[in-house]
Parts: sequence; structure tokens; C-alpha cells
Amino acid sequence: MSDPATPTERLYAIAEQGLCIGCGLCQAVAGSETIGVTKTRIGELRPIVVGDLSHETVDTIYDVCPGTRVDGLPERLIETDTKLDNVWGPWRRIVRAWAGDPEVRHVGATGGVLTALGQYLLTSGRVSFVLHAKASISEPAFGERVLSFTDTDVFDAAGSRYGPTAPLIDVKDVLDRAEPFAFIGKPCDIDALRNWARHDGRVDELVKYWLTPVCGGYMPTAGMLGFLDRIDIDPDDVTSLRYRGYGCPGPTRVETADSVTDVHYLDMWGEDASQWLLPWRCKVCPDGIGEGADIAASDSWIGGSPTREESETDPGTNAVIARTVVGQELLEAAVAEGALVVEHDVTPDDMSIYQPHQMRKKYAVASRYEGLKSMGRIAPVTNRLRIEELAAEVPLEVRRRESDGTIQRVGAGKATEPQPSLP
Ligand SMILES: Cc1cc2nc3c(=O)[nH]c(=O)nc-3n(C[C@H](O)[C@H](O)[C@H](O)COP(=O)(O)OP(=O)(O)OC[C@H]3O[C@@H](n4cnc5c(N)ncnc54)[C@H](O)[C@@H]3O)c2cc1C
Ligand code: SF4
Ligand code: SF4
Repeated sequence: MSDPATPTERLYAIAEQGLCIGCGLCQAVAGSETIGVTKTRIGELRPIVVGDLSHETVDTIYDVCPGTRVDGLPERLIETDTKLDNVWGPWRRIVRAWAGDPEVRHVGATGGVLTALGQYLLTSGRVSFVLHAKASISEPAFGERVLSFTDTDVFDAAGSRYGPTAPLIDVKDVLDRAEPFAFIGKPCDIDALRNWARHDGRVDELVKYWLTPVCGGYMPTAGMLGFLDRIDIDPDDVTSLRYRGYGCPGPTRVETADSVTDVHYLDMWGEDASQWLLPWRCKVCPDGIGEGADIAASDSWIGGSPTREESETDPGTNAVIARTVVGQELLEAAVAEGALVVEHDVTPDDMSIYQPHQMRKKYAVASRYEGLKSMGRIAPVTNRLRIEELAAEVPLEVRRRESDGTIQRVGAGKATEPQPSLP
């Protein structure tokens, strides 16, 4: 039986079912004359159909969109001596580390490892540019995709962009440059580009290094508006917004034409992580730990969050997972050249101590998908992420609780967004 939905309805279902993270890939795939990933009425980056969209194109989008498909590391990159942890995925080396340059360590979100690696890749001539994100000028809470050609460019984009960001919005044009490059993106962005590699052979040819921050979820616009309201700043007055960095985690800094307001990281997010307002897609994320990347870098506070005392003095230390031969070689070369400093090696169990929220989600996510499927919802297709195996380790009543919780949230409209439309 043919699908009664139109191509536009099928595309919008991804967003309406809370699974779009606004990565921009569908615009690149369909062309900006057909889909524009732009700020919509709800303040998020979502696809808007502006031209003739075919079922065939939507089929391709469902095959590459990180809301509908997430694969782990391509099998060909998992060597026989690569270790596999059921929670933390493929790994060859895990270390605590920071940027060799003290200024990069200070300015970076954690210990400046991703910035230092991006700089090293350019100064060593391994790549021609780095595709990543920096603060948007027109929407200060958002990130925008940037191509960095020098170590200064990479430095200028240091820090975490927690707001909506579409790094893949024009990735076909980036590939048209036919130059080797590195990609730094959230795990779901990495997964999206890995998906696109199955359709466009230039991805594997040109993307030489894949780097990612471990990611617990981005901050939706509703969360940002609530935060600005709490600190009594009119969103229209904001001229610049830095989420963290300049210390670890450093303050969240909001600037207007005539004020600079620093807010403690814990006060920006709230001290109780279970109360954080996160997009639905992030609550059902099967890969916040960046399994598709050569290197994933995270914070390393015990328990996933700094104490107030720690955050006054912490100079910043990343936990760094090298998953591939390429990632391990890069890590070790960067250490040998002084771009990174390694404190000591750690284990996947240490990662679970630093990132307990990631571990819990990895065990819970397959049960959440059971809830989604039972409601006739789209559940992302996953491969090589071991989520069913992990769920099988969980007591049945806990699995049922996760599944029922999802059903309740779907029923209460918490997993639903309005059809994308312009403001
Ligand atoms: C949405 C989000 C959620 C996160 N959740 C967690 C978490 O749960 N646990 C945890 O340990 N760490 C989390 N972090 C990561 C953490 O904040 C640090 O980014 C990470 O430890 C790397 O630190 P660093 O000092 O090496 O980064 P930096 O040296 O500051 O470099 C960060 C690099 O990432 C790029 N970048 C930042 N944001 C984006 C974006 N949105 N899209 C594409 N590129 C981007 C920048 O351009 C820069 O190149 C999150 C980050 C983000 C953006
Ligand atoms: S997640 Fe990315 S590819 Fe999927 S619908 Fe949203 S913008 Fe498009
Ligand atoms: S939690 Fe997952 S879906 Fe959400 S922003 Fe992070 S990687 Fe993307």
C-alpha cells in the first residue's frame, strides 16, 4: 500500500515528532531551493519546504537524518585490536588531557582539547580547513557553521555552542571545495555526516578527521528564553552570548549594548540535571558519546557536574576517547608536538564516573524506543550502538518504567512540536 502522506508531510513528521535537531543536512541534500533549515516560529532551526520536494528525496533524508538513523562507527574503522565497551563503544586509548597552550586551555570549554587539535591539524598541514561552529552574530544564542583556515580562526571559535546550530547546512558546497578537512560537530552531526558518506563518496575521501564533544543535549530556545527572563534581560537586547569557557566551566556571559552579565554555569542550567529543559531528540539520543568520531572529548568532573568550589579553580581537564587508529595517531602526535598534555590514561569505567548521565541514557534508550514504537511514532533506526544489548541487562520493571514514561510523555504532547512554519 502506498504511503498516503505527501513528501512535505513526511519530512515535517521528523520535526513534529520531536526528532529534528536542526543539523541542516536535509537542506544540503535537497538544495536550498527546496528546503531551508531556518529559525521557525518556535525559535528552533527546522526544515521549511520552499520548493518541489519528491518522495525520493525524502527517502534519502530519512536515510541520512540523525533523527531517523544513527549508526555507530563504520565497521571498516574498527580494527581487531580496538577495544569495545558496551556503554562507551569502540576505543583504543582514553586519557585525561588539556591543551598545551595555557591560553587555549583557559578559553576552551573544558581543557581546550578540541581547539588544540583543530589548530594542530592546520599548523601541521594535515588538513586545509576545519568545519565547525562559532557564535552566531545575528542570533547570539545560536551557533553558526564556520570554516577555519588558520589556528587563529580555530581559536576564535573555541567554546561550546549549546544553542541551535546547523553545521551541515551547506556541506555539499564544503565538499565541492575538494580539499581535505576536519569536522568538529556534536555527535548527532557526526552521525549525520557519516550517514551522508553512504551517499556521497567525497565524504570519506575528504573528511580526514572527525572530532566531537560528548553531548548531553543542546539548549532549546525555550530554555534560553527562560534563562534570560530569570536574569531580567530582554532577548532582543542581547548582542553576544558565551555559554562557557574562560575557566572551567567558566561563567555564562550575556552582553547587551550597555551591560555585561556573568552567570554561574550551575545557575544557567540549574543544579538538578534531571530538571534541564532538553529537546525530545536529546532525551532519546542513542549516541551522546560520539561513537562515529575519531576522537570524542568530554568534561571530567566526578558525577558529571562541577561543585561551586571546583568551578572557581578548575583549569580544565578533558577526558579524551580515541576510537580509531586515525584518532589515536592524532592524539599521540599532538602530544609529541606539545599541542596537548596528557595527565594519565583512564578507562571506560572512569568515563561512567565522569559522565553518569550518558551511561544511564545508553541503558535506557532502547526501552524508550519501545514506547515510541508502541505509539506509532518514528524511533530512530540504530546500528552498532549496542542499545538492545544494554537494555537486556536492565531489570524488566525498569525497562517497563522507561517505556511507560515515554508513552506518557508522548500522550502529554511533550514529544511533539508544531508543524515547522516561519515566524
Ligand atoms: C550541545 C552540547 C552539549 C554538551 N554536553 C556535554 C556533556 O553531556 N558532557 C560533557 O562532558 N561535555 C558536554 N559538552 C562538551 C563540553 O562542553 C566541551 O565542549 C567538551 O568537553 C570539549 O571541550 P574543549 O575544551 O575540548 O572544547 P573547545 O576547545 O572549546 O572546542 C570546542 C569545539 O567544538 C566546536 N563546537 C562547539 N559547539 C558546537 C556545535 N554546537 N556544533 C559544532 N561544533 C561545535 C567549536 O567550534 C570548537 O571547535 C557539550 C557540548 C555541547 C556543544
Ligand atoms: S535533523 Fe537535520 S536532516 Fe533531520 S530534519 Fe532536522 S535539519 Fe533535517
Ligand atoms: S544529545 Fe544527542 S541529539 Fe541531542 S544534541 Fe547531543 S548528540 Fe545531538
